[in-house]
Amino acid sequence: MIEVQNLTKYYKDFCAVDNVSMMIRKGEILGLLGPNGAGKTTTLRMLTGYFKPNYGTIKIKNFQMPKDALKIKSLIGYLPESAPLYHNMLVYDYLEYVAKIKGINDKEKRYDRFLQLSDICGLSSIMDKPIATLSKGLKQRVGLAHAMMTDPQILILDEPTSGLDPNQIVEIREIIKAIGKEKTIIFSTHILSEAEATCDKIVILNNGRVVADDTTANLKQSVEQNSLIKLSLQGAQKEDADSLLKSIHPSLDVKIVEPVEKGLVSFEITPLNDDSTDHDFRSDIYLKIKETDWIIIQLIKESQALEKIFRELTREVA
Ligand code: ATP
Repeated sequence: MIEVQNLTKYYKDFCAVDNVSMMIRKGEILGLLGPNGAGKTTTLRMLTGYFKPNYGTIKIKNFQMPKDALKIKSLIGYLPESAPLYHNMLVYDYLEYVAKIKGINDKEKRYDRFLQLSDICGLSSIMDKPIATLSKGLKQRVGLAHAMMTDPQILILDEPTSGLDPNQIVEIREIIKAIGKEKTIIFSTHILSEAEATCDKIVILNNGRVVADDTTANLKQSVEQNSLIKLSLQGAQKEDADSLLKSIHPSLDVKIVEPVEKGLVSFEITPLNDDSTDHDFRSDIYLKIKETDWIIIQLIKESQALEKIFRELTREVA
């Protein structure tokens, strides 16, 4: 559906997007992740035709930017980081205005579309409210309705949950998920749990470059295989527990850490050898400790999979 190759954008002599390539299939939700200044907005603006790249190609369906820019723009609904709303208008009047400038001239068709959008974006109770009086989350929903007015096949959403409270984040995320059943969506975010919960695919940018591009499941799996086991024991001597744990398997990296509570001995255990990483060592640890008179207070696998990848890939080297 969308194929981007070697996309590059300079602001004067500063390279904000550097040789970015990615592919999004029809019906996929792609999360574009990256720290502040990574180049997410610039990339999205090039996809929408708002910015012209210095190098690279953008193909959407069988069309190519900039040759078929008008056709491509008609396929895309775009929600910029701050939705461009007229605050002095009522929601209904604003949507009517948007519908008219987008060419929906038939009154009945417009009304039908408002009903659909009101349903999808949860607008029924605010249609007669001035935009200025809406919360940020509700304004975002109006912006989303704007982006979806002509029922575009592709939606590009720039940090749609930025600045929202946790309830509003979940609401917008649920809307995106529901829309994503029928549309191809690219949205940028720095909330990793959001990408994890919503996206089929994730591309991580850092300093304008792609540092990861894979399915959410593959990215998660790649770190889960090396996930950290946290263990806290009561009644054990540090050295005894350390050597017992090390005897379980040579691939285990066992580190003693500050105990979570007084009177406990705590460890962080990481399987290092790739051959053994499919195996869940928690059961081996449990069985080994069972042979002693120590008590297991904590035995967990750390599950911040994507956070870990994100930090590793986007860490600034000092
Ligand atoms: P954020 O999450 O903070 O919105 P981002 O990943 O969307 O960041 P961009 O807004 O694309 O990143 O910015 C990428 C880099 O380009 C940043 O270093 C930014 O300062 C710079 N930049 C963005 N727009 C311009 C501009 N109009 N002129 C000059 N530099 C710019």
